[in-house]
Amino acid sequence: MAKRDYYDVLGVNKSANKDEIKKAYRKLALKYHPDKNKDDKGAEEKFKEASEAYHVLSDDKRKANYDQFGHAAFQGAGGQGGFGNFDFSSSFSDIFEDVFGDFGFGSSGRSRRGRSNNRGNDLRYDVSIDLDDAFTGTEKKINYTTYKKCKTCSGAGSKPGSKPSACGYCGGQGRVRSSQGFFTIQQTCPECGGEGEKITNPCNNCSGAGKIQSNESVSVKIPKGVDDGTRIRISGKGEAGSKGGSSGDLYLFVSVEPHNIFKRSEENLYYELPISFTDAALGAAVEVPSIDGGKTKIKIPSGTQSGKQLRLKGKGMPVLKRNIFGDLYIRIVTEVPTSLNKRQKELLAEFKTLEDTKSNPLIKSFFDKAKKFWKN
Ligand SMILES: [Zn+2]
Ligand SMILES: [Zn+2]
Repeated sequence: MAKRDYYDVLGVNKSANKDEIKKAYRKLALKYHPDKNKDDKGAEEKFKEASEAYHVLSDDKRKANYDQFGHAAFQGAGGQGGFGNFDFSSSFSDIFEDVFGDFGFGSSGRSRRGRSNNRGNDLRYDVSIDLDDAFTGTEKKINYTTYKKCKTCSGAGSKPGSKPSACGYCGGQGRVRSSQGFFTIQQTCPECGGEGEKITNPCNNCSGAGKIQSNESVSVKIPKGVDDGTRIRISGKGEAGSKGGSSGDLYLFVSVEPHNIFKRSEENLYYELPISFTDAALGAAVEVPSIDGGKTKIKIPSGTQSGKQLRLKGKGMPVLKRNIFGDLYIRIVTEVPTSLNKRQKELLAEFKTLEDTKSNPLIKSFFDKAKKFWKN
């Protein structure tokens, strides 16, 4: 029997684009699918013929070869032709995924995962809080839009009193299986999306979806110690599931606003404390802010250098879910006066006559090195 032209097989003309070729094959594959035509050898042959034609015409390289050489393009050394190069078992699952994988069941991805995946979508809500709130913990009221289970049909999607009917295409299995000796493949039913049933009498309230859009509001406790990027799960507050599936979850993504004094690194806090050069030289007691909103008295020892770091134990952030606190690190910065009055200048000038910079260890050490450097 002479091989039919691939374009004739699919019923498209030579200028057909990929989509048209795919559509044509899809139609034929559904019509001649072995599961739909049990014990019909003719249908099986047609199914194989269409699959082979699609295998060739859906691929740019194979199609170009076919357009140029016809069936001869695929005739191997043995002269068998056609199927000789077409390995059904390996290429067929690709074809099916390609043609039926996107069979138009919306964006839920349900068609590939089967009937068990009726759980509702998770939702994300971004919330921003202050560092002080992260220190004490807080409560936020969240308003959001979600899908709730339809009350009229209790989420079933069918008009109360009516039931969905079994899907005729898969016989209620939710899957279709092709087992024809040369390949076996199980696929989510393209008719019912794996549900095994179809709603024939849809609920008026939700048009058969089983859920309706609604505005929700929930109060969420944000625990003390949350950090930028902390994720809080509010179980069951996501979108309603379908066909009795459980609801998804609501995820709160917390971001913590930068503070104008405290910088945070995990459980520790930092800031720079400017002090006068006289306090640095003579020593002082200073009241400094702590994140609890209070004041903490710290002692600046005499002779404190700029850059020195003090550590206040336990004055940092609380650690999430643990009853411990980080530390507060204070980095001292000495501020030199930029405007001196006459009297201040006189006193400093007098001080300078008494000053012995050679006894300042940093200055001494630096210029000792410099002297050696200059000599060379
Ligand atoms: Zn309903
Ligand atoms: Zn079905």
